Amino acid sequence: MRKLIAVFVFFAFTALPLASPAAQNKAGYVKCPICGDRVNPKTAKNSWTYKGKKYYFAACCTKKDIGNFKKNPQKYLKK
Ligand SMILES: [Zn+2]
Repeated sequence: MRKLIAVFVFFAFTALPLASPAAQNKAGYVKCPICGDRVNPKTAKNSWTYKGKKYYFAACCTKKDIGNFKKNPQKYLKK
């Protein structure tokens, strides 16, 4: 249930910049390694550098999700 609310908040937040045509440029987005959602590195609140690569996490991923990712990144990156 908490995840559903987080997803809603994420979409409500990301819908705002879409009002401007310039913001519709999809270039520069990266994929959240945990859930696969698109993440804008400029606005991502959470990121982590692993083996020289920086990963950005979508707003839907909680601190707990990110903690699990850090403990076992290979599990997520092999997907
Ligand atoms: Zn995510």
